[in-house]
Amino acid sequence: MPIHSIFRTLQQNGNRITMCRRALISLLFESPNPLSILDLKAALQQEGLEFDKSTLYREIQFLMNNNLTVELCFHTGEKKYEWKREHHHHLICRRCDAIEEVQLDELENVLPSIEKKIHASTKFTKIDHALDFFGLCVQCAK
Ligand SMILES: [Zn+2]
Ligand SMILES: [Zn+2]
Ligand SMILES: [Zn+2]
Repeated sequence: MPIHSIFRTLQQNGNRITMCRRALISLLFESPNPLSILDLKAALQQEGLEFDKSTLYREIQFLMNNNLTVELCFHTGEKKYEWKREHHHHLICRRCDAIEEVQLDELENVLPSIEKKIHASTKFTKIDHALDFFGLCVQCAK
């Protein structure tokens, strides 16, 4: 979905596009890498925009509630956010936080039936999943 349709869809659903929201969406949308709140704060500062961390957390929460952004949790407890694009999983290095994207056809083939069972037992709808793997990258394993 192009970025202007994202803004339009959000507005059609009754959401305001504040300056913070617009800037944050553009950043995440264009970034090839997941970004932490501090990364986002620094990038916004470079554009001359000053927002405190709690505002950014609230906006990230808004984007996650709207299924536009996913959260990645690192073993250090750090969290990073990425724009939700094509479905994939992550492989994260425990030592240096290098990230690779992995696609797991076998898993994607079985998960829909598991999600159906979860729906049947909980009545939750729009069920999705997020799954990250951790290991040591080639550099760190040396
Ligand atoms: Zn590493
Ligand atoms: Zn990713
Ligand atoms: Zn998956």
